[in-house]
Amino acid sequence: DKLKESRVYLRALFDYTPYEDKATPCQEAGLPFKRRDILQVVSQEDNTWWQAKKVGDSNLRAALVPSTQFQESLPPLSGLRRSFRLRKDRQSSPGEPQTPDANHTEFLIYEEVTQYRPRPGERPRLIVLIGSLGARITELKQKVIAENPRRYGLAVPHTTRARKCHEREGVEYHFITKAAFEADIQNGKFIEYGEYKENLYGTSLESIHRILDQKKACLVDLQPEVLKTLRTAEFKPYVIFVRPRIYDSQRKLLGSSSSLSAGVTEDDLQEIKQSAERMDECYGHWVDYVLVKEDPASALAELQAVLERVQVEPQWVPVSWLR
Ligand code: 5GP
Repeated sequence: DKLKESRVYLRALFDYTPYEDKATPCQEAGLPFKRRDILQVVSQEDNTWWQAKKVGDSNLRAALVPSTQFQESLPPLSGLRRSFRLRKDRQSSPGEPQTPDANHTEFLIYEEVTQYRPRPGERPRLIVLIGSLGARITELKQKVIAENPRRYGLAVPHTTRARKCHEREGVEYHFITKAAFEADIQNGKFIEYGEYKENLYGTSLESIHRILDQKKACLVDLQPEVLKTLRTAEFKPYVIFVRPRIYDSQRKLLGSSSSLSAGVTEDDLQEIKQSAERMDECYGHWVDYVLVKEDPASALAELQAVLERVQVEPQWVPVSWLR
């Protein structure tokens, strides 16, 4: 019945496997889904089990998914249907922002979404690259911009370090004093900042606006914690998670063409793998696209193709961004 067709679409923020769920009324009636899947909710009449279809699924029949209320009623970290995430205390490394809300628990169940169609002449969406260890997202970002500077722009960061002779104010950096930088922090001018070799570096909101106002797509590479503040209607961030491909069986990476440098040890590999898993675990629900980086050239080509699509094709975004 087309007329009654629901217009509620939800992005799943957790994985659901009905076959492993003891609470489901009938296992065959459950709809298995993964984080980031888009669900069209057909009925929310029942408080516990909603009826839904997966968008893009050829199966036209609706099946059961747990309701938000039901998920909320579960104790935290209760096995397979957990929908809580515990932000782990992270060790800050150079260039990373502080996380005041470490150890904060949040509900991750569903997010209501709708299709956003980019219109010509509109400010482009902010493109956010997040990457696990070895993904080299800054390099990737710089290459995209260098190949098409008319369409893509770089938010110029601020720094307190001395200007080198080949550098120009406002091109590589905005060079400011430490006192000015600290005042800017107090005034909330930076979306992120960090310290490196006793100098402060940061990206200001204004530097991002400056690029977007030129109708260029602004690419930023950020620590994923920052997404929490950036996920607003103003920026409509499209989040790309870059992770290096690691071959389990080979126990080594693809020679010198790999995105990782040669001389990588088994321990390094483990660390790289864990870094990607941790990032996926903590922030995967905010990711729009996962780019598995095989080698720099193919990663660049894939990224460029994704960016093209984001600028012309409809994408799912939180409904709150379009209200
Ligand atoms: P350099 O002084 O060589 O230009 O940059 C040194 C380091 O400063 C970079 O490798 C990076 O770790 C850090 N850095 C540069 N720009 C930024 C920025 O906008 N934010 C943060 N947090 N760190 C930056």
